[in-house]
Amino acid sequence: MIIVLKPQATEQDAKALLNQIEQCGLKPLYMPGVERIVLGALGDERVLQQCHFEANPLVEEVKPILTKYKRVSRDVQPHDSVVHIGNVPVGGQHFVVMAGPCSVESEQQLLSVAERVKTHGARVLRGGAFKPRTSPYDFQGMGIEGLKLLKQASDLTGMPTVSEVMEISQVDAVCEYIDCLQIGARNMQNYGLLKAVGETGKPVLLKRGLSATIEECLLAAEYIVDAGNPNVILCERGIRTYETATRNTLDLNAVALMKQRSHLPVLVDPSHGTGVRELVTPLSRAAAAVGADGIIVESHLNPSEALSDGHQALTGDMFAQLMQELTPFVQAAGREL
Ligand code: PEP
Ligand code: MN
Repeated sequence: MIIVLKPQATEQDAKALLNQIEQCGLKPLYMPGVERIVLGALGDERVLQQCHFEANPLVEEVKPILTKYKRVSRDVQPHDSVVHIGNVPVGGQHFVVMAGPCSVESEQQLLSVAERVKTHGARVLRGGAFKPRTSPYDFQGMGIEGLKLLKQASDLTGMPTVSEVMEISQVDAVCEYIDCLQIGARNMQNYGLLKAVGETGKPVLLKRGLSATIEECLLAAEYIVDAGNPNVILCERGIRTYETATRNTLDLNAVALMKQRSHLPVLVDPSHGTGVRELVTPLSRAAAAVGADGIIVESHLNPSEALSDGHQALTGDMFAQLMQELTPFVQAAGREL
């Protein structure tokens, strides 16, 4: 429920109401605006109705939040959230490009691709150290050694990093070396893990599950925010459909809809979304056009030798070309690269 206070209501008045909300056994939210204060009361609908906040003379309006997710809903916060990964704002005026290899493979591999993507305008370095592989016989990632290499690459290039955490037991290590925790598609509904990253307060890149609905994705984000961490970035990375010509079907509907329904930043991952390197640039342009806040793409200076996802990795030259071809679309969308 959203409680809009009258313009004359003071911070003191709001605090008294927040106390009242808490005493009813509901979760209070404080949302000061430019003209008036807005409060939220989250919890059991029946309790909400019994509290009669509308009878308070300082209350202008009481509105229900109709969606199941509350804190991530635009009903609760009409303006866009900006999440900072290190010194890079995500969700503001800038269209953010995150790039790097699928997996961290060696110092030389990571540093060379990091320098290259940085030169062409990437702001955040990606790289997997803990890899969720479909086959147990495939490369499973370098683990902690990979995290250390990401930290080293970050120190050298000045780019903050994003890397996947697959298990609760890995959260502390990933937090120690990495600026943004990635929750992979396969773990989008791992609620214990969502709560654990929620408790860290670190930025989280939450990827949509391959067969998750948009509502399920927003509810997964709600878990993280409800655990005390508002720094969530959503990511559409393609869903599973009957189509087999591409690895996944990149659902751009979801991007437009999530931007409407939620105040959280939304990224697009055209690498996993298509699984085809030649399709990464066209779908990146589409991401900018549809209103995404940025993209996360895979790049490898020698894709034929990549230990994972080589078929969808952009070479250095292809990454440079992507940035060039993306620019007019980002500008047309009213953003800057
Ligand atoms: C990745 O980013 O390398 C990855 C495994 O992504 P997803 O969870 O979207 O498959
Ligand atoms: Mn990958």
